[in-house]
Amino acid sequence: MSRFLKSGLVLFFFIFRLCLVAGQEGSASDFLQGEIMMKVDPFNETVHGQVQYHFSVNKTVDSVYLDARAMNISKVRLNGRKVRYTYDGRYLVLSRKYRENKEYSIDIHYSCKPEQAMYFLGWNDTIPGNEQVWTQGQGKYNSHWVPSFDEMSEKVSFSISIDFPKDYEVISNGKLINTTNHDQTTTWHYRMIKPMSSYLLAFAGGRYSSERQFSTSGIPLYLYYYPHDSVKTEPTYRYTKEIFDLLENEIGVPYPWQNYKQVPVRDFLYAGMENTGVTLFSDSFITDSIAFKDRNYVNVNAHELAHQWFGNLVTQQDASSHWLHEGFATYYSWLAQKEFLGEDHFYWMLLDKANDLETADREGDGASLLNPAANSLTFYEKGAFALLMLREYLGDENFRRGEKEFLTAFSFQNATVDDFLAQLEATSATSLDNFRKQWLESNTFPEKEVTQYLRKSYPPVEQFFKARLELISSAEENEAIIMKYWGSTTSSEFRKRLILQYHRSLSTEFLKNAFNSNDFKVRQALSSLPGPIPEDLI
Ligand SMILES: [Zn+2]
Repeated sequence: MSRFLKSGLVLFFFIFRLCLVAGQEGSASDFLQGEIMMKVDPFNETVHGQVQYHFSVNKTVDSVYLDARAMNISKVRLNGRKVRYTYDGRYLVLSRKYRENKEYSIDIHYSCKPEQAMYFLGWNDTIPGNEQVWTQGQGKYNSHWVPSFDEMSEKVSFSISIDFPKDYEVISNGKLINTTNHDQTTTWHYRMIKPMSSYLLAFAGGRYSSERQFSTSGIPLYLYYYPHDSVKTEPTYRYTKEIFDLLENEIGVPYPWQNYKQVPVRDFLYAGMENTGVTLFSDSFITDSIAFKDRNYVNVNAHELAHQWFGNLVTQQDASSHWLHEGFATYYSWLAQKEFLGEDHFYWMLLDKANDLETADREGDGASLLNPAANSLTFYEKGAFALLMLREYLGDENFRRGEKEFLTAFSFQNATVDDFLAQLEATSATSLDNFRKQWLESNTFPEKEVTQYLRKSYPPVEQFFKARLELISSAEENEAIIMKYWGSTTSSEFRKRLILQYHRSLSTEFLKNAFNSNDFKVRQALSSLPGPIPEDLI
């Protein structure tokens, strides 16, 4: 998942919920396949569905249960026969003896009017073409619209058939097997091959066109867009194939799913959500080629894609291992940004993030990456720095090999932070005890170490620190010092910061020349200064 960020402040926090019930009786049951068939009526905001699960138990148990929130359950069958069950509006419990190593199938007929996790937009207004339905499972629970498993550890191969009003596009997890037209509706049948957690189930319905590309490895990439926005497809999805190729190469494990779709939706709750093979993202990221420079989808694009491995292929055991999701997704989006938006963007962004984390520490908001209730700045940015520094410490080869072995060992399963560390320790024959203490256990962000790394890695950052020191300690005129640094750098971000921090020391003449340099970042910095833009700059 990816949050919206504004001025470095986190607007949306991922709220962890404590799991209220223990898992299935000692996790004795294993649900293998799920087949969902549902009719979605967006005008009435209802779902009428049927779901079938195949499962087995590895020891004899007296009951199994599913999560099903506020549903009408009309029929339940076990292996095609009536079965005793209870339903309290929250859990559907099927009581009887289930014998070890026997296979069972459950059929559940249900209907519901989801209070959350499925959202209906624009169906009862007069604006044509703005109708959408979309889902959000993480933090909201898909058990609001399909009896399923809130526990991330229950991984199921799903197929999903959605009957939806005609003339709309329906996009869901897996491969589109077929569509069947009826009088008023069309049924869309998607099928997955590999298992995943229920929170990653998703679909979106609305007016969409799409463009198909292929990754170098041959994975189909579907880029959805609003039919009236076709000219924005290229800038919105710029670098998509390149990001995909980069991540597959960097991570070293082939993309685990059949295809990859990206779908913009209205009024989304987050910046993006990495449902398996089908990322939904806020349509506020749709951009044209001019606005691209200011704000684009590259970060979220790479972040959600990275989750297809870190979160979807290997899933956290519980929230204390949430670093495995958000830290890793953020880290890979940083790598993509470095590659496609450039080093100047990358290193200064990191310096800003380091400052945010240092400020959070100072204000008492620093947290351990192992704390399930840590804020998102910790899980995302501190988590990504932890990986950056871990790679520095172990070296590229050890880091990449260890990570690849970890992903391979825990594919389609759940893992903990310690599983990851143990794998890297084994691969590199290096103890990570100190890393664990400093980066994962401690509430404090190792700011000095990160700053040193940034100064060492990117000369303009080093120059910036030198300039700052010189401006504090030198008797020389500020403008003379700034001019010296200004003239010796080609870093737009460095110049931008000189303007933002020292514009009061700079003459109109200097600012005018800066403005006329046609450097986009510099002009942007000048325009953002408080007060009207001096007339002679216009
Ligand atoms: Zn995320």
